[in-house]
Formats: sequence, C-alpha cells, structure tokens
Amino acid sequence: PASYVAAPYYPTPHGGWVADWSESYRKAALLVANMTLAEKANITCGSGYDMGRCVGNSGSAPRLGLPQLCLQDSALGIRNSDHNTAFPAGITVGATWDKSLMYARGVALGAEFRGKGINVFLGPTVGPLGRKPRGGRNWEGFGADPVLQAVGGALTVQGVQEQGVIATIKHYILNEQEMYRMYSIAQPGYSSNIDDRTIHELYLWPFAEGIKAGVGSVMAAYNAVNGSACSQNSYLLNGILKDELGFQGFVMSDWLAQISGVPSALAGLDMSMPGDGLVPLLGDSYWMYELSRAVLNGSVPVDRLNDMVTRIVAAWYQMGQDKDYPPPNFSTNTQDATGPLYPGALFSPSGVVNEFVDVQDGHAAVARNISRDAITMLKNVNNTLPLSTNSSLKIFGTDAQKNSNGINSCSDQGCDKGTLGMGWGSGTARYPYLDSPMDAISSKASNVKYYNTDTFPSGLTASSGDIALVFINADSGENYITVEGNPGDRTTAGLNAWHNGDTLLKNAAATYSTVIVIVHTVGPILLEEWIDLPSVKAVLFAHLPGQEAGQSLASVLFGDVSPSGHLPYTIPHNESESPASVGLVYFELGQPQDTYTEGLYIDYRYFNAHSIKPRYAFGHGLSYTTFSFSDAIITAVTSLTSIPPARPAKGSTPTYSTAIPPASEAYWPANFNRIWRYLYSWLEKSDADAAAAVASTSSYVYPAGYSNTQKPGPPAGGAQGGNPALWDVAYTVSVTVTNTGNFSGRAVVQGYVQFPAGISYDTPVIQLRDFAKTETLAKGESEVLTLSFTRKDLSVWDTVQQNWVVPNVGGDYTIWVGEASDTLTLGCKTASLG
Ligand code: BGC
Repeated sequence: PASYVAAPYYPTPHGGWVADWSESYRKAALLVANMTLAEKANITCGSGYDMGRCVGNSGSAPRLGLPQLCLQDSALGIRNSDHNTAFPAGITVGATWDKSLMYARGVALGAEFRGKGINVFLGPTVGPLGRKPRGGRNWEGFGADPVLQAVGGALTVQGVQEQGVIATIKHYILNEQEMYRMYSIAQPGYSSNIDDRTIHELYLWPFAEGIKAGVGSVMAAYNAVNGSACSQNSYLLNGILKDELGFQGFVMSDWLAQISGVPSALAGLDMSMPGDGLVPLLGDSYWMYELSRAVLNGSVPVDRLNDMVTRIVAAWYQMGQDKDYPPPNFSTNTQDATGPLYPGALFSPSGVVNEFVDVQDGHAAVARNISRDAITMLKNVNNTLPLSTNSSLKIFGTDAQKNSNGINSCSDQGCDKGTLGMGWGSGTARYPYLDSPMDAISSKASNVKYYNTDTFPSGLTASSGDIALVFINADSGENYITVEGNPGDRTTAGLNAWHNGDTLLKNAAATYSTVIVIVHTVGPILLEEWIDLPSVKAVLFAHLPGQEAGQSLASVLFGDVSPSGHLPYTIPHNESESPASVGLVYFELGQPQDTYTEGLYIDYRYFNAHSIKPRYAFGHGLSYTTFSFSDAIITAVTSLTSIPPARPAKGSTPTYSTAIPPASEAYWPANFNRIWRYLYSWLEKSDADAAAAVASTSSYVYPAGYSNTQKPGPPAGGAQGGNPALWDVAYTVSVTVTNTGNFSGRAVVQGYVQFPAGISYDTPVIQLRDFAKTETLAKGESEVLTLSFTRKDLSVWDTVQQNWVVPNVGGDYTIWVGEASDTLTLGCKTASLG
C-alpha cells in the first residue's frame, strides 16, 4: 500500500546541527580534517570477528590519539566477563514501573562498563517492543508498550552515558521475531511490512526518546522493513533517524547485518560490525579496504565518509572519552588471564587479556531492589501471602535452585536449568553468583522441604498446614542458540510454562490445599490450566531477576515488603485472543513476509478494541495493602495548536574538502606485519591507483532517488527526538495516593490518554502516556504524584501532513489515572478546563 514507508531518502544528513553536540563536532572536525583516507576508513569498521578483546573492536587512528573502540554486550550486564553484576533483565525493570530504579540501573551499568574499559555499551534494547508474545528477545526490553519501553530505554541511556560510556539503542527496527531475521547466502531476512502511522506511534517512539536523551549510537537490525534491509534502508536511516529524529551519533550494523558496501554507506550506515562480509571466515569486508577503494573510485562520496567518521569521533568526544578513559582490561573470548590477542587469526601474538577487574561495587543492592520491586502479585486469595517463617513449606520445581551443573555452565545462558534469571543469547551476562530462591527461603524459614524436580513425586501426601511453593518458568532468547527445540522464539513451548510446569502445578494443587506459584518468565505465559483451581491461592511473577533471585523474592514472600510490580504486558487466556498477525512467521520461499496488519492494535490496545477481557490486564499488580486514588487535579500548562509550531532550523555542520584524496593516502605502509584475517583499510598501491583512475574516467551510477544536496529537514524534526515542541507539556494531572490498608507498600499510578470522540483518526481506546511510583507508604500515609502529558502524547501521526497533529484542539480528551489498564478509577476531562 502507498502508506507503507519505503521511499528513497538521500543524502545522509550531516551530523552536528544540534546545539548540544556542537562542541563535540567542533573538536571532531579538527581531528577528522587531519585524517588520511585509510585512517577514516579504519574507524568506520570493526577489525573482524574475534579480532580483539571485545565483541566489536573498531579500527583506530593512533597517530591522532584515537583508540580502538571496544563495543560490548549486553543490555543487562557485561557479557562474557567476570566480577561484574548480572542485573535483572529489561522486562523486570519495566515491571517495577519505577523511574528512579530504571535510572539507577543505568548508572550502575555505566560504571561497570567503564570500569572494564568498554567504550560502547550495546544496550538498551528498545526493539523488539513485544508485538509477538512468542518473540525471543522481548525480555531484553521493558514491556509491550511504547511509553514503558521508551522511559526504561531513555533512563538507561542517561544513566549509562553520564558515566562516559556511549549507549546504543537497538535493534532499529521491527526485529520482532528471531527466526529468519538474518540475510544469508540462501535467503534474505524477513521483511517487516508496516504503515507510516503505526511505525511512528508504536515502534519508533522508544527510539525517539532514546535520541532525545542524547544516545550516542544506534544499531541497525538484521531484518528488512518494507522490503529493504535495515542496514541499508535510506528511508529509515537517512530519513527518519538522522533527519526527522535528529540523531547526532553513529549508526552501526548489527553483527554481520551489513549486506553491501556502497549502498549501505549511501543509506546512512556509519560503522560496520564486526567488520566482516557476509561469511566471516573469509577475512573480507564490505568496507575497510573496500571503503578506501570506493572513495578513491568515486562511488562513495568523500562527503559521506567524512560524515561517518565525524559522527563516530563526535560521539567519543560527547561522552568525554578523550580524557582518562581506560582501555579494555577483559576479554570476551576467554576466561584465562593470557591468550591470543586476535583469536580469529590463524597465528596471533599472545598476551594478557583478562585482568579480572572487579567492577561490582555496591551494585548488587540496586539489582536486588529492582528484582524485589518488580515482583508482580497476580492473585492472593484470603491474604495467603505473606507467609510466616514458621510455615511448613514444601517447595517444588527445579527453578527454585541453581543449575547443579554450574550457574554459568551454558554459554550465553543457552539452557533452561535451575533458576531462570535471564533469557539466552547475546543479551546475557555471566553470573558472579546466583542467590537462588532456595538459598534465601531456607535461610529465612525453619520448616522447609525441597523437591528438586519438575515431576510431582508419587505418593506424597499433605499434612494440615502444609503450603506448597511451586516454581515454574518459561525461557526464550536469541536465534543463534536453540534451547529445547526453541530457536530463540517460543516455537515448541508456545506460551505455556516449560518442563510440564502446568502438570506439576495441577498435581501439587490436587495434593495441597494451599499452593503458591512463583514464575520466572521472559513474557506472558498461559495460566488457564490451573489458575482457578481452589488450592492455587497466590501467584507471583518474579520475571527475570538476574543474580538477585533469592532475597528479593523471600522479602516479598515473608512480608518484609509488599509486592509492588505491575505487568509490563497483557496475559491472555489463550493465544487466539490476540490477532493472528502477531503470531510467528515461518519459512517461505524468497523473503519471509511479516505484515503488521493489526496496525496500532497490539497487546492491550487490541484487547480493548475488541472488548476482550484478558486473564490479567496490562499494568495489573496487587499489593498486601490497598490504596485509594483521589483528588485528581488536571492543570493546563501549554495551550495547543493542531500542528506544532515550526521547527527550529538546523545549525551548521562541519565542512571539509570534497575532493577525492590522493591514492597514496590508502597505500600500505612499508614493512607492515599483517595479521591474517585482520581487516585493514589499506590497499595495494596498484589497487589504489587503479581505483583512482576509475574516478577520473567514469562516474558512478547512484541509486534511484539519489541526491547529494543537504535538505533543511522535515517539519516533524528540529532537535534530537523530533520537533522540540512535541515535548511541550500540555497538561499535568496530580493525584493523591493513600495507603488505606494495613501494610506498608508502594503504589504505581498509570496515566492513559483517551482521544476525544468523533475525530477522523481511529485511535486505541486508551494509551499509556506517563506513570509514577510512590515511596513506601505506611498505613494511612499519602503522597501526591504528578504525571505529565505532552503535545506528542495527545497527537496522532498524520501520514499526509507528515507531522504530529492534535486531532481536535479543545476537544474533550480524557486522562485516565489508576493502578492498571483495567482499573482506571479517575478520569479527568480536558474540556472541563474550558
Ligand atoms: C545481536 C546484538 C548484539 C550483537 C553483538 C547480535 O547477534 O543481535 O544484540 O549486540 O550480536 O554481540
């Protein structure tokens, strides 16, 4: 359809036009002006798969003091390292609905990455958004709603970058399932086919907020969007990211996601990772020496190379990495102290690669607080919870205890054995330790019997007063590892608990009159086989707690604190309640097609539109106490016009000579000791001279729609994230939250916008726009929380005007406030303000 986005967009907007970055661009321009062609090409590309200590190692320009950059996973802690914290996963952080904890985790992550000498943190993950409940990597992000995802992502970016580490928002964009994501020699990666309004109102939202927070890098995803691979999609990179959203940093490819040299450069890719071509074993590259050649022969304009390099160097200055930044002191490739410096080479010099620097500091406390405040109580009949430490506890399920083979026995956590603290794949870290539920429960309670099995033992009988705690889990991860038949996405397991958890629970419920269910999960699971059984009294979702699975849970179970987490997604009764289009796509000849026919209607937006009451609604979460919400006060802050005020004009950007440099700038230096398979940007003299000769005799045929004239930028742009007027606060709503029960606890206030009736745009009934969480309120205590609603929050993306439009200025918006998307008790009407 014509509304689907795919138009060519050229050239790449130069970086540097935003005031916040101008000093960094000024410094970068001084450096870049002195770089040779080979130096420039070197820093835009990795040195090759397994060719350094980090998962990505860019080339350097030592003559100018620019080091190799170390790029390292993961979004929840340093991957493949030691003496680091394994933080709770993004989905757990989302379930806290606590902005201060989101930020605190970012600060702690940043400190650890810096402490290991990592320049670029490969997180946060803000895509996938969680469109597909079975999608393998949803747990790396913060929840199936653009605002929850955006707030979690932006506060992570802020916390990390304040420590001087460049953050990376990934994966740009629509990488909503794992299977068939990558281009290979055999097949293109799938195409996510989406319309312009849906991409703006849902999937771009978290990227826009990350850019507004000043993120230094963006990772282009493996898949295609509307038929064009994300790593060379000019509409997405040049158009949306760098012009409309005003992104000032650099775009890197996902690992081996680059599929061409010249087209990817023209479309706006700035850094190729890890540097290799499609088949990493061959030691070739689309860039490095090929980029030097492409500039010499005139196919990649010098102007584009200069912008690529300037963006990278500017991001380095922007985070202050030119001053006292430590070099890497660890290796992602081995746990030994010494080893090959270039493990991907046939012959590599050896040296010290791991210095075992302890970067954990006091971060375990941050991790524990998040794991604790994320615990989401879905059911608690008769105040069964909290438990007394004297109760007779019968504990079932292998998930309650550590994997007996070792907590890090599966590489990249590619197995589901023992307590599930995170999913699998590159989004993981090694555990320094794992505080398991059994460790913590047995240290607190006096009468505990543990059955370390997922099969209910035969012949067990209950004594009166026995309480069964049953641990179940559901796992998923990244596509390069298959776990128990699941290639990343939850194919074989579906949305049910793994390891016959449903059967274990039903058997426990048949034996014990009080059963408490604890779930470690990557996302929604189906509860229907047991949730209504009379003995299933309480259910806690502990999400993915990372290393702090034990004490965080025990403090809730035994009532040291009340649970205060809320669901970051909807739990359906069964999968058929969701639209068929959010199911996984499977093999098809040619390019697999994944078409977003449900448009804006994912997760609760779909359930509400179809009046389906799910098992548990988005945002649901119970407490040991009760809260009243009262005295909602709406205040108009800025009055709105239908179209935002005109955007600011772009500031100036660095200028350089656009002449093709002399071929000699790319010649191999004399007597250089080459490492086999290492990627270099130099060319043999004869090759460089031949390329230069091509430029003087013929001119390159650029893609359809190509132009090298810089544009003023679209009306929706104007600053990082978009037109700054989009963040003008239109209304605030304050609400008084009072603890009306008998227990201390924390409440979450969620604010949803309902558009006025009768507008000419179809809009979801309600959409989350802001949230806040109280401090711990003692019995009877109150706190006033204030939520903000911006122009963007009250706008729709108009595909014809290509702008955010307030559909009915002065119309009657309702701002709903409450504890969950299905219990919105207070509504404020904007029209009541006149
Ligand atoms: C993943 C990225 C990751 C990269 C580097 C890719 O397979 O999709 O999320 O950052 O590898 O490990």
